[in-house]
Amino acid sequence: MTLSRRAVLAALASGASLCGASKQYAGIAFEVIRNGKSKRRYLLIHGDEQTAREVLREHMKTQEGIAHLVMSEERLVPVPGGKVDPNRLWSREGAEKNLKRVNPEWSDGQIAAELRRLDKERNKLIEAVMPPEGGLLVAVHNNARGYSVKEEAPVSDAVSLKENESPHEFFLATDESDYRILATGPYNVVLQAKGPAEDDGSLSRLMARRRARYVNLECALGKKDRQREMLQWLERNLP
Ligand SMILES: [Zn+2]
Repeated sequence: MTLSRRAVLAALASGASLCGASKQYAGIAFEVIRNGKSKRRYLLIHGDEQTAREVLREHMKTQEGIAHLVMSEERLVPVPGGKVDPNRLWSREGAEKNLKRVNPEWSDGQIAAELRRLDKERNKLIEAVMPPEGGLLVAVHNNARGYSVKEEAPVSDAVSLKENESPHEFFLATDESDYRILATGPYNVVLQAKGPAEDDGSLSRLMARRRARYVNLECALGKKDRQREMLQWLERNLP
């Protein structure tokens, strides 16, 4: 698929290699890094999380699997006439809430039209990032606005807090076996296999509903050594 001029400029600005493959799903451009053969899949969905982008790019030089990295420098991605949080469109319910929030000037008709477009294109995006049967999807995120494991703990099915002094660094797993293994390490981990009840349109809710293996690795922006260390720990210990 041909990338829009805007996507190409955003990719260049974010330092993406245009020699590598790039693809567009649901109107969002991704850099795709493939290395060897593995059931591992990786995702960077928020363009402003530069530490996670650097860690994932380096990781893919040695780790086998497929990584999708959003080609944007900003958290919100453009949609016709507005914008959306790319980690809030994995369900119609979540997309509707987010479109209304970030495009307060939109009419009901604009919301409905964009929801129809997303409904048509969402499955292609899901298929692109979904691991094969039994495989693991790892999403890398950075937080810079105070978000921490303290917000996830009360709505999680199980919680293992080993680093109370580092609440911004944690794993969120949707599979109980993965959670048990991660909880043997020195890091903060939460399990969200069932809850929370509210569907905010994030990928973790979708993966939990599908009973698929998903781990979200959160670190504060700029904590590159820490994020690399946690990702490597995950690789050594998860099947
Ligand atoms: Zn994020």
